[in-house]
Amino acid sequence: MSTQPKTRTPKVTAPTARATRPAGLHVAVVGAGMAGVVCARTLVQAGHRVTLLEKSRGLGGRMSTRHTEFGGFDHGSQYFTVRDARFETALRSNATSVVRPWSASTVRVLDEFGHVLASAPPPTEPHFVASPGMNALVGLWAQPLAADTLTDTRVAQIERDALHPEQWQLRTEDSAGGQQVLGGFDRVVLAIPHPQVHDLLRASGLAPELRQALAPVHVAPCWTLMVAFPQAMQPGLPHLGPQWNAARSTHHRISWLARESSKPGRDPIERWTIQASPAWSTKHLEDDAERVKAKLLKGFAEITGIRATPTFAVAHRWRFAQTQTPLGKSHLFDKALGIGACGDWCLGHRVEDAFVSGLEMALELA
Ligand SMILES: Cc1cc2nc3c(=O)[nH]c(=O)nc-3n(C[C@H](O)[C@H](O)[C@H](O)COP(=O)(O)OP(=O)(O)OC[C@H]3O[C@@H](n4cnc5c(N)ncnc54)[C@H](O)[C@@H]3O)c2cc1C
Repeated sequence: MSTQPKTRTPKVTAPTARATRPAGLHVAVVGAGMAGVVCARTLVQAGHRVTLLEKSRGLGGRMSTRHTEFGGFDHGSQYFTVRDARFETALRSNATSVVRPWSASTVRVLDEFGHVLASAPPPTEPHFVASPGMNALVGLWAQPLAADTLTDTRVAQIERDALHPEQWQLRTEDSAGGQQVLGGFDRVVLAIPHPQVHDLLRASGLAPELRQALAPVHVAPCWTLMVAFPQAMQPGLPHLGPQWNAARSTHHRISWLARESSKPGRDPIERWTIQASPAWSTKHLEDDAERVKAKLLKGFAEITGIRATPTFAVAHRWRFAQTQTPLGKSHLFDKALGIGACGDWCLGHRVEDAFVSGLEMALELA
């Protein structure tokens, strides 16, 4: 992955001279989650030139893995399912080195009154994970784009190119306060959560109709707790708590919990990822992380019976986690401006929705 020199003074990067510019388009794809990387890959395969810009230091977006001294946590998406033939083909032809089957063991956990507290019925379709962590799939698919990928680069504004006004230039910021202006883009694709699409376009004074189209979309937040119990690693004691490895929960705080160490290719140290429900996360969105941690740990103990104090416990807040109301079409594109938007929020709340959205966005441009 290339890194750009960081400067505090904005500078204009001259676009490739028009006479020597390749026949294809030069497209800026903003956001290197599943949608952005699939869009960028597809455009490159169609002969276009792509610059991929990502505000985080790593790629993957919500298909992410938090690395700790106790092993990794898939603190965003936990697994994915495959229903679209194009996703299946892409996985079969280009991802068998990192994709592994994984499923929750069948379980029903009852509370003291016999009510279902958590359950994992027999799966109706195969579940898959990337290995050694969920970020491995996007990482693999982004490899051919490495030379034109800028990480730690947040796009703050889109404006007409200073040298060629029919093109676009992007003002970017890095985490150290460095700023750049990157120019010469024929098209701009925003593969980022819809509130961020809205804010970026509004800050740029662009595409009011596209912004308006985002209004019905609703994405809920998710507080996620990661806990590790290295003390459980004793001979003859493979697990600290229950023998099941994942379940959906009806607990008033928690909607999902999974034993990370049960996934293929993971470190064996006992680790759990616990996701709060959309309703609870919304209500407690601005709560202090320590308070959230304590509440979710209590719920975790009630469901699993694990009352030991974890050696590692960190709460992570996803402001835009799970789509509740999608846009209802695969992407948005303002033809007159040459600016598009895609992401899971267009179609649903699954990794596959992000894949399809990024693919359809690219096909519209290609
Ligand atoms: C807690 C949680 C659990 C989930 N569980 C599952 C699951 O089990 N199964 C499943 O299928 N799906 C699950 N999902 C949903 C799945 O993760 C998403 O559908 C998918 O990863 C979305 O991909 P995306 O590319 O649309 O967006 P993202 O992954 O959000 O990618 C957007 C990228 O844009 C970057 N970005 C944003 N603004 C800017 C900017 N201005 N400049 C540059 N970069 C920017 C972000 O840093 C990010 O990397 C879960 C999500 C969460 C949060």
